[in-house]
Amino acid sequence: MNIDISENDSSIIKPEIHVNPDLPHEVKARVQNLFEANYVNAVKPPEPATENIFKLTLIDEKPFFCSPRRLSYHEKAELRTTLDNLMSKKVIRESTSEYASPIVLTKKKNGETRMCVDYRTLNKVTARDNFPLPLIEDQLDLLTGKKYFTTLDLKDGFYHVRMHENSVKYTSFVTPLVRDTGNYLRTSSIPRILAGNKVKIITDCQALNLTLLKKETNPRIARWVLEMQNYDYVLEHRPGSRMQHVDALSRQITVVEDNTFDRNLALCQSEDQNIASIRNELEHSEQKLFEMRNGLVYRKHCGQVLFYVPIALEPSVMHKYHNEMGHVGIEKTVRNIMSSYWFPEIKTKVKNHIKNCLKCVAFTPDSRRSQGSLHSIPKGDAPFSTLHVDHLALTSRSNSSAKHYIFLVVDAFTKHVKLYATKTTNAAEVIKNLKTYFEY
Ligand SMILES: [Zn+2]
Repeated sequence: MNIDISENDSSIIKPEIHVNPDLPHEVKARVQNLFEANYVNAVKPPEPATENIFKLTLIDEKPFFCSPRRLSYHEKAELRTTLDNLMSKKVIRESTSEYASPIVLTKKKNGETRMCVDYRTLNKVTARDNFPLPLIEDQLDLLTGKKYFTTLDLKDGFYHVRMHENSVKYTSFVTPLVRDTGNYLRTSSIPRILAGNKVKIITDCQALNLTLLKKETNPRIARWVLEMQNYDYVLEHRPGSRMQHVDALSRQITVVEDNTFDRNLALCQSEDQNIASIRNELEHSEQKLFEMRNGLVYRKHCGQVLFYVPIALEPSVMHKYHNEMGHVGIEKTVRNIMSSYWFPEIKTKVKNHIKNCLKCVAFTPDSRRSQGSLHSIPKGDAPFSTLHVDHLALTSRSNSSAKHYIFLVVDAFTKHVKLYATKTTNAAEVIKNLKTYFEY
């Protein structure tokens, strides 16, 4: 007996069971029924049958957080389906854990997408379970004299291992899915970048410390101060020789407060490797292309400074400037983004984004099919040199002997229109009507 399960997602499996065709019909039917009842249509038991609870022991308990990797529009849609499915089966749940591993999407043989969690960071800090593997020779000896062999692929194998309640938090993962509002599906991940970590705010603005300490009368700033109290931060004052805009801070507060989109961008910059290394360089020397303002990295461009969008948020920015702005073309999307933002290879990425935009794909005429070009017929330089004729059918045909068509004659030069009611569209009637037309 051999059981083939194409993949472990029960919503798409095409389960197949091969039973020895020589077996009696009743036996085959029983095997098929057993297989369908206990395997294909099996309901997840409320409690796992095995008491084997999996516990993770970490060598280093320090929380880790990996930025979600970029996904195409199409991949995101598939990921959402996968996540909804896992959520409904209660295999996963929303999490506020401070440990987060990224996910990877791989292609299954049947072209479907499979979601894997990349636990490499977790594995590095997990204490090894040194359970000895059985000796292969001993295992082979056990097969001596056996006649029937079975291979059995466990359905959703990993989902059957129960995780110890204290270990669940280590296994959480993060996805780049954004909600329509622009927030992360796992909303907890954004503040978490700051929460629990000591944050150093470097500023050239002496007043900031005072601003954060005093009861500010400006309600905007007061709300911002309140928000800052949730985080463990220290302020460091640095004289402003390297910081060109002394007054940028007040502007920054407004931006941060007013716009959660911008705030998310700012928080996520600290997660981007490239930005982090540029920021390091900027701490020591001036850079030709980049500039730091209030600890945030900006790209200099044509006398402007553009906010350097962290890679994790590039899709959101493109979504905001393409999908939410009437699905404009590549050039316009790039231009709009670059009114405030910048990221590497912006044009290529926008091009790709639009190429994968479902709405744009659906509404753009197929460019490969060449459109039949309209050759307008010359209207001539005198009346009656060119005539356009056509038939129009009338909808009601209750009376078969009545005239159901209109024969239409338009003179190309004068645009003079004549209509004739006709019974048919045949040539005889056309010629008869044209004769009448020219008799006048
Ligand atoms: Zn579009």
